[in-house]
Amino acid sequence: PDVFLSVRDLHVRFRTEDGIVKAVDGLSFDLERGRTLGIVGESGSGKSVTNLTVLGLHDPRSTEVRGEILLDGQELTGAAESTLEKLRGHKMAMIFQDSLTALSPYYTVGRQIAEPFRKHTGASRRDARLRAIEMLEKVGIPNPALRVDDYPHQFSGGMRQRAMIAMALVCDPELLIADEPTTALDVTVQAQILDLLKELQQQTGSAIILITHDLGVVANTVDDLLVMYAGRAVERGPVREVLRSPQHPYTWGLLGSMPRLNSDVAEPLNPIPGAPPSLLAPPPGCPFHPRCGYPETVGGDRCRTERPGLPEGRGAACHLTPEQQRTIFAEQIKPR
Ligand code: SF4
Ligand code: MG
Repeated sequence: PDVFLSVRDLHVRFRTEDGIVKAVDGLSFDLERGRTLGIVGESGSGKSVTNLTVLGLHDPRSTEVRGEILLDGQELTGAAESTLEKLRGHKMAMIFQDSLTALSPYYTVGRQIAEPFRKHTGASRRDARLRAIEMLEKVGIPNPALRVDDYPHQFSGGMRQRAMIAMALVCDPELLIADEPTTALDVTVQAQILDLLKELQQQTGSAIILITHDLGVVANTVDDLLVMYAGRAVERGPVREVLRSPQHPYTWGLLGSMPRLNSDVAEPLNPIPGAPPSLLAPPPGCPFHPRCGYPETVGGDRCRTERPGLPEGRGAACHLTPEQQRTIFAEQIKPR
């Protein structure tokens, strides 16, 4: 397969006043061109940190990065800022959660879309402006030739989100990372934005990473799913399989806090009790054991002492046997 992004055994640590935070602890995944990977988990699971690290947007003074990040065959860990700077825009780009902080209030929307294009292609001001209008049209802004000179505050929240997508896509990035791109928007606009991303992907064949805490968002949008907990991947697989027959107790919990989806997805459980662990001192063994209902089923001290590995491909990092996973899940959740 045509792997575009390959992350191997990534570790990201922050030095803080309170000690070392293990934000990402041994993460591996691959992403092919034309595919969308969903990364889900509660806040603090390491999903945003992973992607900021891929983009090289972490603070090198307080962050230690180990492992491999291969983008189109090029090693990014340890790459110079000037190298990363060149890659951002046309090789990889990011859509942030909050359009108000991502867009400057002092420049017109059109200028903010045109500027990275000019920088990357050396286009004239006039051509870059035309490109900005074209991008605004592409993301569904009505009357783009008039709106191009508006300031961000003259746009609605949904339009700003679209403008930010236009800004991210203006140099045709081959990898697009969208961090909770729809969280601040109402449900209808959310669906429109996600449809738009899919549509643009079909035109350009780009690879997309969609980061979210909401499993409801990923069901119809992504191809593959990576579930993160406490800086580690705990389950992965094709999205349909993960949603239909989730194997990890944490994924069961996430499904429980998910609103009803379509008919081939299981019935809701209950929210997960407790809170994610401190990454200053992650629990030994399985990081989910303090919140999990099944260490007794596994037996002995295994969940508290032995770290479960995540297999390549479809699977979960859990000591329960596949048989136990199926039985417990079938008892807990009645498929529709
Ligand atoms: Fe729960 Fe043990 Fe599986 Fe971790 S390894 S999820 S504690 S059953
Ligand atoms: Mg986040």
